[in-house]
Amino acid sequence: MFTRESELSSLACAKCGHANDAAARRCESCHAHLHLVCRQCGVANDRLASRCGDCGARLHRTFWRRLKSRLDRLFNPYELLVIIAGLAALILIVIGMSRQKPAPPAPAGGDSPNAVGF
Ligand SMILES: [Zn+2]
Ligand SMILES: [Zn+2]
Repeated sequence: MFTRESELSSLACAKCGHANDAAARRCESCHAHLHLVCRQCGVANDRLASRCGDCGARLHRTFWRRLKSRLDRLFNPYELLVIIAGLAALILIVIGMSRQKPAPPAPAGGDSPNAVGF
């Protein structure tokens, strides 16, 4: 027979819903981590919590933050500036080339090899 106390101290797995022992670190059923360790202070929080119960730091990164950090890793601000400047220069070159079309060299007349001699 289950006592009320054991029910309260059980920790439901966020992945499969299995009721684990409160002291368990991983789910007995699917071996998923039951706690989320805060990157700021290192305190183990409930996996379903969105913020650290100790320091209030975000436990889950949002999509935009993830995207930004990925972009930051790919390009540093200086590289991004160089890429933008390069693209701008390329656009200016293309516009300049389309504006002044080089005129085809007009034949001067009488300069053909057949006209040499008499
Ligand atoms: Zn589980
Ligand atoms: Zn924390």
